[in-house]
Amino acid sequence: MKEWEKNIRKVTPYIPGEQPKMDYVVKLNTNECPYPPSPMVEQAIKDLDYKRFRLYPDPDATELVRAIADYEKVPEERVFVGVGSDDVLGMAFLTFFHGEKPVLMADITYSFYDVWANLFQIPFETIPLNAQLEIVPEEFCRENGGVVFPNPNAPTAIEMPLSQVEKIIRKNQDVVVIVDEAYIDFGGTSALRLTEKYDNLLVVRTFSKSRAMAGMRIGYAIGSETLISALKAVKFSYNSYTMNQAAMAAGIAAIRDEKYFNQTIEKIISTRERAKKVLSDFGFFVTDSKTNFLFATHKTMEAKDIFEQLRDRHIFVRFFDKPRINQYLRITIGTDEEMEILYQALREILK
Ligand code: PMP
Repeated sequence: MKEWEKNIRKVTPYIPGEQPKMDYVVKLNTNECPYPPSPMVEQAIKDLDYKRFRLYPDPDATELVRAIADYEKVPEERVFVGVGSDDVLGMAFLTFFHGEKPVLMADITYSFYDVWANLFQIPFETIPLNAQLEIVPEEFCRENGGVVFPNPNAPTAIEMPLSQVEKIIRKNQDVVVIVDEAYIDFGGTSALRLTEKYDNLLVVRTFSKSRAMAGMRIGYAIGSETLISALKAVKFSYNSYTMNQAAMAAGIAAIRDEKYFNQTIEKIISTRERAKKVLSDFGFFVTDSKTNFLFATHKTMEAKDIFEQLRDRHIFVRFFDKPRINQYLRITIGTDEEMEILYQALREILK
């Protein structure tokens, strides 16, 4: 090893779901929305004046922040935006988890959390989910340097009731608690209003799933003014111009079209509820998903085997080769037509 190589930061990066380069039949592996964004987004993109691209974007993303604040009914000072919720969460780890005590996270959860903790050299402790793959709130009540969990959790898809979320927050008022609500719009109950009661609570949301804009990279956080100004200070110490002009315009259009948003959610939930039944009939155990994906294990067939046989048919789902969940598949809810293709393939595979 050369001398300079010793100074390279050693990290194990997060591995996102595969973006297939080959022609695929059905892509149900990265929890994208199967429907396009609101038609208002199309118009907003058409209305962009490319000549303005020579200018830097608004570093405060003022108009997008205002649109989100209006929608969420909070003051603008309580909104922070970023390049997808990954950017917002990464920034929140860097800002709020700066102590010596371990940050608490579930053993089975969004696999970016421990990556950020390692990158930023944040001590952390993982708390096992129970046998039903649920977060146990009491376990999050020990001494710590911060708490982070998604609700609903990923990849289990299971929602924790708001009363239990509040219990975790109530018992952890000396640290920052981050609730990652990437999937909350698919039937969950948000902790957002609790930010009025607890100034140490940060709720993180994304436009990637329910607003069908994973490709635009828009995420946001709502919290007390103190939390938001701390986030801004760190962001402006790193990169001022995170949000580009097109993403901001698209985001404003999307969040204003509540009707389209509700229609999309309704379609996904109805497809999901049917998918739960179909997969159960096929011999899968499926967790009670409140997200846009299912987490399912087959009673007899190996998950990896099903995953590979689906892949051979150019149908992509997600398989995690990790302890406790290596018999599960995570299947994003597609359109009804896409799901029919999946069901037909599963009928053949499970024969
Ligand atoms: N949180 C959870 C739980 C997720 O599953 C994802 C999607 N990978 C994200 C955050 C990040 O999504 P995005 O950066 O697209 O907003």
